[in-house]
Amino acid sequence: MSERKEKIFVTRASLPPFEEYEALIRRLWDTHFITNMGPYHKELREKLKAKLGVPDIELFVNGHMALELLIQAFSLKGEVITTPFTFVSTTHAIVRNGLKPVMCDVKESDGTLDPEKLEALITKDTCAIVPVHVYGNVCDNERIEKIAKKHGLKVIYDAAHAFGETVDGKGVATLGDASMFSFHATKAYNTIEGGAVAFDEGRTPGLADRLYKLKNFGITGKESIEFVGANAKMNEFAAAMGLVNLNHFEEWIAGRKRVYERYVRNLSTVKGVRVLEHRSDVTYNYAYMPIALDSECFDRDEIYERMVADGITPRKYFYPLTNDCECYRDVLDVNDTPVALKLSHEVLTLPIYPELKDEVIDEICDYFS
Ligand SMILES: *Cc1c(COP(=O)(O)O)cnc(C)c1O
Repeated sequence: MSERKEKIFVTRASLPPFEEYEALIRRLWDTHFITNMGPYHKELREKLKAKLGVPDIELFVNGHMALELLIQAFSLKGEVITTPFTFVSTTHAIVRNGLKPVMCDVKESDGTLDPEKLEALITKDTCAIVPVHVYGNVCDNERIEKIAKKHGLKVIYDAAHAFGETVDGKGVATLGDASMFSFHATKAYNTIEGGAVAFDEGRTPGLADRLYKLKNFGITGKESIEFVGANAKMNEFAAAMGLVNLNHFEEWIAGRKRVYERYVRNLSTVKGVRVLEHRSDVTYNYAYMPIALDSECFDRDEIYERMVADGITPRKYFYPLTNDCECYRDVLDVNDTPVALKLSHEVLTLPIYPELKDEVIDEICDYFS
């Protein structure tokens, strides 16, 4: 095969027209107010409340710190039930809070936490559940939250992949006690790097105040520091990018949908290729294009290597499982989650972004014919 002129990656950071960003950041040279909850930070926060349909939002430097500080804000102790079929950030955020992660297996159909397996993992030490809307596939929130309620557990969603989605017409951010979003460059909506916690102060009184202090050194006044806080503020350049990108989000989702549907059309009849499911009551954001390859028909790793050699880089999201990472191997056992383990050896997330050309999509699909 001839050398590709343009390398294809699993995603491509969505950027607005340069002039739109320039117009916003130009004003920063007038004010010199470039961080510490400036005007763009405030404006983005208000716009995201409307976009996500939640009463309260706190913005962060990235999604990981948003999740880590969110878990800290609940002052939890003991065990947290979560899944290993995710980016390692989810498990790290639990462990870095001194909490013990307990791994629940996932559903083969969509990779999200399997509520059937949840209750058996609850002990007297369980304090919370951190389910992941992996690939933007929204968890079985009703069953998870029913079980959580019965046992008095907090439900904190890792919604890093689910920006802009609705469930039965309501924003995905309204589920559970709180949700974390990531605005990393590789996500469907980005602020270069950034993150947010979405919640309802009416249901979790005091959370806004705790999150604010945790992201700003625990400072409570000009000369008083009452908490051992971190520094996890979103700066004005990031917030400005968020404001401009928000105006383009729907058009980008439409572009992703086109790509997704072409993949589905090409691959849905191929024996041994399974497109992961998402719920019919969810407006999907098409952030990822995950397929599972039946090992009887395909060698996932061989196809991956062949594509990379040809200049096309899909990803094996999520391989390895977090309970298979070197740093967790001694304390967690990958065999506790057999469905997740199987899925991690079958999945391939294919390139998806609004500008991906039809010819390239078809070329990628040819690897599975
Ligand atoms: C991206 C991601 C995070 C972390 O977000 P960052 O903004 O990169 O810090 C957490 N969880 C999941 C599932 C992610 O994909």
